[in-house]
Amino acid sequence: MKNYDVAVIGGGPGGYVAAIRAAQLGLSTACIEGWLNDDGKPALGGTCLNVGCIPSKALLDSSHHFSFIKHEAADHGINAPGATADIHRMIARKSRIVQMFTQGIAGLFRKNKVEWLQGYGRMLADRQIEVTPTVEGSEPSTISAGHIIIATGSVPARLPPAPVDNEMIVDSTGALAFTDVPRRLGIIGAGVIGLELGSVWSRLGSKVVVLEALDDFLAPVDRQIAAEAEKILRKQGLDIRLGAKVTGTASNNREVTVNFETAEGKQQLVVDKLVVAVGRHPNTARLDGEKAGLKMDERGFIEVDEQCRTNLPGVFAVGDVVRGPMLAHKASEEGVAVAERIAGRAGHVNYATIPWVVYTWPEIAWAGKTEQELKAEAREYRVGMFPFAASGRARAMGETGGLVKMISDAETDRILGVHILGPNASELVAEAVLAMEFEGSAEDIALTIHAHPTLAEAMHEAALAVDKRALHI
Ligand code: FAD
Ligand code: AMP
Repeated sequence: MKNYDVAVIGGGPGGYVAAIRAAQLGLSTACIEGWLNDDGKPALGGTCLNVGCIPSKALLDSSHHFSFIKHEAADHGINAPGATADIHRMIARKSRIVQMFTQGIAGLFRKNKVEWLQGYGRMLADRQIEVTPTVEGSEPSTISAGHIIIATGSVPARLPPAPVDNEMIVDSTGALAFTDVPRRLGIIGAGVIGLELGSVWSRLGSKVVVLEALDDFLAPVDRQIAAEAEKILRKQGLDIRLGAKVTGTASNNREVTVNFETAEGKQQLVVDKLVVAVGRHPNTARLDGEKAGLKMDERGFIEVDEQCRTNLPGVFAVGDVVRGPMLAHKASEEGVAVAERIAGRAGHVNYATIPWVVYTWPEIAWAGKTEQELKAEAREYRVGMFPFAASGRARAMGETGGLVKMISDAETDRILGVHILGPNASELVAEAVLAMEFEGSAEDIALTIHAHPTLAEAMHEAALAVDKRALHI
């Protein structure tokens, strides 16, 4: 039986990054991954590269360009009447980008001498793993490892009243592969994924209705930012129905009827396609962990301590399959930290500064605490805000919606949270994360020179505003 220092189960951003780092640290490393792409070929990269972060951003960017040409180019003096979207080409471009990156990881594995075992791993006792190849004709084999890192990720959560048939009712994967623009599109769930996919197809011409069970829009987001974002997204044409609980669906091969309940009573919606985007569920189906004695919690996540150790000696778990935000960069950071720990070094993940991004346009990005969380903790804080409407660069770009909101401790001025709704918020939030990582204060940012004219100046002004000395508002 072949033995490795480290066996990683799952080749998504948690697993493949952990495997590369373990190999860099001199450990003999295998990564077991059974994903097959649309052509039936084995592929690394997990949800993120194949059907998550990357393909969704490719379509968000393409649809954003189209929307710009249609609605904003004229204001810049650019006339492009009759612009049309070639969906087949757009989807083909997305697939090319995905392929390039998944193949790139296979290249990184070769370079770092990570052995890719193409199949699904099942946990046996004593850190042995049975690998069942995904390619037909090969026999299962068993390997053993000094340490195991489980990174089996997550799958779309199912909603019994709206069973996915991959034709009329799809999940996020199906919604990244429509070959035509549905005239009427229903989306269940106004979370990150629902809003991003809703934005893509709305920009390309769908009439999009989003049904959200909760009464609050983007409940985890700072209330002020969420309210502002809701206004802008509604203006863009997303028909967001809050407090709308889906109770049943009926579909034929032409349309889907969605039954839902609101405070006003029973209602109905008829759409051409329906997307179920009600969250994600930890993926442990093929792992068979319980039989090997692995402890799960009541929601199906693998139980880990703050160092990602499971209850089994030498077995760690990282990423979407454990507690914490289901984000690619969180998975990767945990993967690196675990590889470092296995190699006898210190591993570190600062859960307090993980940035969150919703890639609508404008983008929504934040790190740290929201005002509502600080109120609940009875903390004393100060708030500084700066709207993009007052930013020279944002005006020049024609992107004046949104604001930067900085919250700092009333006594020490230490930054507690930064919340951004605006153009390129996903990039701007990095400055806030860095400042918070260094335990910086609003004054630290206020004393930092920001190039002019840039969107980042809004961060500078928000920091000045904490001390009531913003200059341009
Ligand atoms: P995964 O990426 O899910 O990878 C797990 C891998 O394990 C899979 O490849 C699976 O085949 C494999 N596996 C499972 N069981 C076994 C087994 N028994 N043996 C072998 N292999 C196994 N996050 C962001 O940070 N930014 C974004 O912009 C973003 N956009 C997203 C958009 C969409 C539409 C979706 C669906 C998700 C998005 N996410 C985003 C979330 C992100 O994709 C996940 O947080 C991330 O992929 C989690 O990484 P992971 O390594 O834990 O799991
Ligand atoms: P996220 O967890 O960010 O992917 O978001 C999923 C969203 O789906 C959450 O806002 C949930 O409130 C919402 N949701 C879950 N179940 C339902 C349902 N039956 N009808 C409408 N929305 C739902």
